[in-house]
Amino acid sequence: MTAKRGLGDLIPAHIASIRPYVPGRPIEEVERELGVEAIKLASNENPLGPSPQAVEAMKRFLEGSHRYPDASGYYLRAKLSERHAVPMEQITLGAGSTELIQLMARVLLGPGNEGLTSEYSFVMFAQAVQAAGGKLVEVPMKEWRFDLEGLAERVGPRTRLVYIANPNNPTGTLVTATEIDRLLAQLPDATTLMIDEAYGDYVDHPDYSHSLDYVRRQPNFLLLRTFSKVHGLAGLRIGYAMGHPDLIAAIDKVRSPFNVSRLAQVAALAALDDDEHIRRSVESNRRGLELFARELPRLGLSCIPSFANFIFLEIGNDAQEDFQALLKLGVIVRPLGFMGLPRAMRVTVGTEEENRRFLEALKKLLATRSAHGVPDIQSVRGQST
Ligand code: PLP
Repeated sequence: MTAKRGLGDLIPAHIASIRPYVPGRPIEEVERELGVEAIKLASNENPLGPSPQAVEAMKRFLEGSHRYPDASGYYLRAKLSERHAVPMEQITLGAGSTELIQLMARVLLGPGNEGLTSEYSFVMFAQAVQAAGGKLVEVPMKEWRFDLEGLAERVGPRTRLVYIANPNNPTGTLVTATEIDRLLAQLPDATTLMIDEAYGDYVDHPDYSHSLDYVRRQPNFLLLRTFSKVHGLAGLRIGYAMGHPDLIAAIDKVRSPFNVSRLAQVAALAALDDDEHIRRSVESNRRGLELFARELPRLGLSCIPSFANFIFLEIGNDAQEDFQALLKLGVIVRPLGFMGLPRAMRVTVGTEEENRRFLEALKKLLATRSAHGVPDIQSVRGQST
């Protein structure tokens, strides 16, 4: 008798081989499990909360929740069009920019086509390429930055999509507009460059980005932005893509018509105008980054300068172990073993109080470690992946 086929046998290999996404642990779960009051610095959310204007706008719209959303997102797209001086037909909305990454992969990839990016970049690109049946190609980083020359060299006739997160998650590093100009000039017409500026609002750098110029003039280009970070709306799931009308029309063909909820659209509209919340969020983040840059070296740790709302920390120890130890002290961070960096963790910049609590917890952890004879950070520096 032949063995009965399990359901697993019916899952195509390109889906079965996808590594599941590992989300940051929810605060409620940790508090329930450990009985400690926790702070979450694991998912790069805005520690100041949502834009208050967005919250007010949502309250006014709650009563209309029995209605489907506007499938075209007209009012928000109109506002974005005005704000960025980009025609409406060049803008589409997604349930977070993550959905737009997936949709782009579905539109442009398929068996035999390649999605190209760097190692140690946003894991959702790899997932999207594989789910679309494409082949993922990753180029090594240089000093924790995207190596755009290496990327350009690796572009071939099957490369349909190139993905750059700028700044990059989890390293917090950026590539300059000049470097991207150079890359774009070398890309064949059949290769689309997708730049993800999820953390763009936090960047303070004179040569950061002029991606909107590319949106206006370059057909093989797509720019992603999100309301999840500086606007504090991660729980609502809303982001947008800007690119050539043909690319946008193709995305619209494959997306679910009601992919972005009414509340998310209303909140995003209000959040765009909430300059005060944006200013406070950026300022609070800047102070947090400065605090980390000052205090971490005092603990024998160094982190590469971050342009985003998190830091990338080489911890010189098994980061999963340190994650557990910090958890017991009520601090949730993100160990990066799941992406091949077992000695590194990513820590979101929190409120000032949260940042100090993290530093205190880290101090305790390092003290316990040296009391147990575990080599300190300085002596193992360089062994990290
Ligand atoms: N892009 C990058 C580089 C990110 O790090 C993240 C979130 O962590 C996202 C996109 C996700 O954004 P969204 O919440 O809009 O899906």
